[in-house]
Amino acid sequence: MKLNDIEKKVIEGKGTEMPFSGEYCHNTEKGTYVCRRCGAPLYRSNDKFDAGCGWPSFDNEIPNAVKRVPDADGHRTEITCAACEAHLGHVFIGEMFTAKNTRHCVNSLSMDFVPEGSDTSDKGHKYETAIFAGGCFWGVEYYFAKVPGVLSTEAGYIGGNIDNPSYEDVCTGRTGHVEAVRIVFAPDIVSYETLARLFFEIHDPEQVNRQGPDMGEQYRSEIFYTNETQHEIADSLICKLAATGYDVATRLTPASRFWLAEDYHQNYYAQNGKTPYCHRYTRRFF
Ligand SMILES: [Zn+2]
Repeated sequence: MKLNDIEKKVIEGKGTEMPFSGEYCHNTEKGTYVCRRCGAPLYRSNDKFDAGCGWPSFDNEIPNAVKRVPDADGHRTEITCAACEAHLGHVFIGEMFTAKNTRHCVNSLSMDFVPEGSDTSDKGHKYETAIFAGGCFWGVEYYFAKVPGVLSTEAGYIGGNIDNPSYEDVCTGRTGHVEAVRIVFAPDIVSYETLARLFFEIHDPEQVNRQGPDMGEQYRSEIFYTNETQHEIADSLICKLAATGYDVATRLTPASRFWLAEDYHQNYYAQNGKTPYCHRYTRRFF
């Protein structure tokens, strides 16, 4: 993304915009805040609150999207985009604004806002979303989070018939949801085909309504495509597997609303320093 002079001052020169001058200071629309320089998703509107300070404030970031570095001033903590190191602002702890007791104080100039449901490519950023369900989302997220070019991964639920389901709701197997991982990636670094191949190789696509020890419709194998090209790529990979003797159970479905899972499910293995019991890599494409 080409930056203008004021954006450069803030993003590359670590400057600060005038308080109350930024376009997102009072924005309450639902959506995602992305890095203005590289397009990586940084914050969700759900985590935004009004701190009255004159800059957009968030009490949480998208997992692994934001890096903390000691500020050159010797006492504050600077925050930068984890993908491209663009300067975002500072993070403050202990002010008791919200229960999370954290305030990311971010320059509007460091971000772009993508309203919920709109195509992120409108902003000229080159990134795309993919959604894969292949058993327990802990294991699926574990593998995708390691792929270069993957900007963010989130565990959640999709494909069911109630709004905002909890883990307990989904576990009943009666809501129709499946455990899934939403991935934002940069297609100029990693292609959808590479990700979809990996998907077929980190879970067993022949299992119906289960994955290893996890049984139930919520563990079914399903790809939720976000555009027609993804659909065609996924379909052709299934044909390739079928041609080598696999009886693939994976369903292909247009993406519907994705509901984030509870915090303790996000990046579960990385957060807990464990490795998956439920998934392992098996080469299936030759
Ligand atoms: Zn960035």
